[in-house]
Amino acid sequence: MLAAYLVGRGMIEMRTMPVPEPGECEVLLKIEAALTCGTDLKAFQRGHSLIPMPGPFGHEFSGTIAKTGKGVKGFREGDAVMSTHSAPCLSCRYCRKKLFNLCEKIMQTKVLGAFAEYILLPEHIVRQNMFLKSERLSFAEAAMLEPLSCVVHGHSGVRIKKSDTVLIIGTGPIGLLHMMLAKRRGARVIVTGLEHKRLALAHSLGADVICEASALLMAVEEHTDGLGADVVIECTGQLDVWETAVNYVRRGGMVMLFGGCKAGSIVTYDTHRLHYDELQLKGIFHFTPKDVKAARTLLAEGFDVKPLITGSYPLASLSTAFSRLALGDGIKYAIIP
Ligand SMILES: [Zn+2]
Ligand SMILES: [Zn+2]
Repeated sequence: MLAAYLVGRGMIEMRTMPVPEPGECEVLLKIEAALTCGTDLKAFQRGHSLIPMPGPFGHEFSGTIAKTGKGVKGFREGDAVMSTHSAPCLSCRYCRKKLFNLCEKIMQTKVLGAFAEYILLPEHIVRQNMFLKSERLSFAEAAMLEPLSCVVHGHSGVRIKKSDTVLIIGTGPIGLLHMMLAKRRGARVIVTGLEHKRLALAHSLGADVICEASALLMAVEEHTDGLGADVVIECTGQLDVWETAVNYVRRGGMVMLFGGCKAGSIVTYDTHRLHYDELQLKGIFHFTPKDVKAARTLLAEGFDVKPLITGSYPLASLSTAFSRLALGDGIKYAIIP
C-alpha cells in the first residue's frame, strides 16, 4: 500500500509498504477520506512534539472496513465507519479520575498514518471511538469527527448561554468550528483573524460580527456594552494572541486557550486583572469518548461541516495541499487515496 511519511520540515515522502494484518480485536480500515488539520500543518512547517519525524502522517479519517480481527464485535467487513485516532486506556491514574482526555497513554497509543491507503486500528480505539458512518455524511464530512470532538471538548467546560457574546480569535478550521458551535448554542459571536477571505467565510457561516485584529478592541466594546466578551476562545496558537486574549474578556469571564503554542513558550499576564476581575484561563486539550459521541451526534443531526472542506486531492498530491495551506489558501483539504 501507499503511505505518506513526514520525513522533515516541508518534506513528505510516499512509501510503499505491506498492508497490515489485523490482530485480535483490531480493524483494518481502507481509508476513503482523510483531512488535513492545523496540527498537521504545524508539523509540516516546523515539526511537532507529538508527531514523530520521520513517521506516518495524518490523523483525521473515515473509511470502509477491509478486514476485522478475531473478536471484533458490532462491525464487519464492508462497513463504512468514522473514527478518531486515539482513545484512553481506562486504567491509568487519570482515567480512574475520569479525566480521559488526559490519559497517561493516550498520546503513546494514538495512531497516525491516515494519509495512506489503509490504517490499522487497535482494540481500544475500535471499542470506544469507532462508529458506523451515517449515510447522510460523505466520507470527508465523517472525517471531521476528530476535530469536532476537540471543539466539543472545549465547549463541555464552559456553559455558553443565549445572551452570551463569544469572541473567537482565529479563522482556521478550529476557529470556524468553535464559531459554528457557539452559534448553535445561541450566542452572539464575534470573529477576528488576519485573512479577509476567511473572515468573509466566517460571516457567511453565521458569525454576527467579523473584524480585523486592529479594530478588535473597539468592536468588542461596541458589541458588549463596554464589558468585554463573556467567553474568548483563542484558536491561533500564537504567543502574542495568548497574551492579549485576556484584554477582550469581561470580569468573571473565561478565556479558552485552545491553540497549542510551541513547546517552551512562556506568556505573562497582569495578575491584578486575573485576580480582581476573577478571570478564568482554561487550557483545552484533546477529547474524551463522551465528546466523540457528542460530535458524532452533531454530525448525524446535520451540523454542516461541508463549507470547511475547501477541496480534495489524491494521496500523491498531499504536498500540494499542505503548500496551499501554508499560504493560507483553503481551510481543510480532503485527501482521497
Ligand atoms: Zn486534527
Ligand atoms: Zn488512561
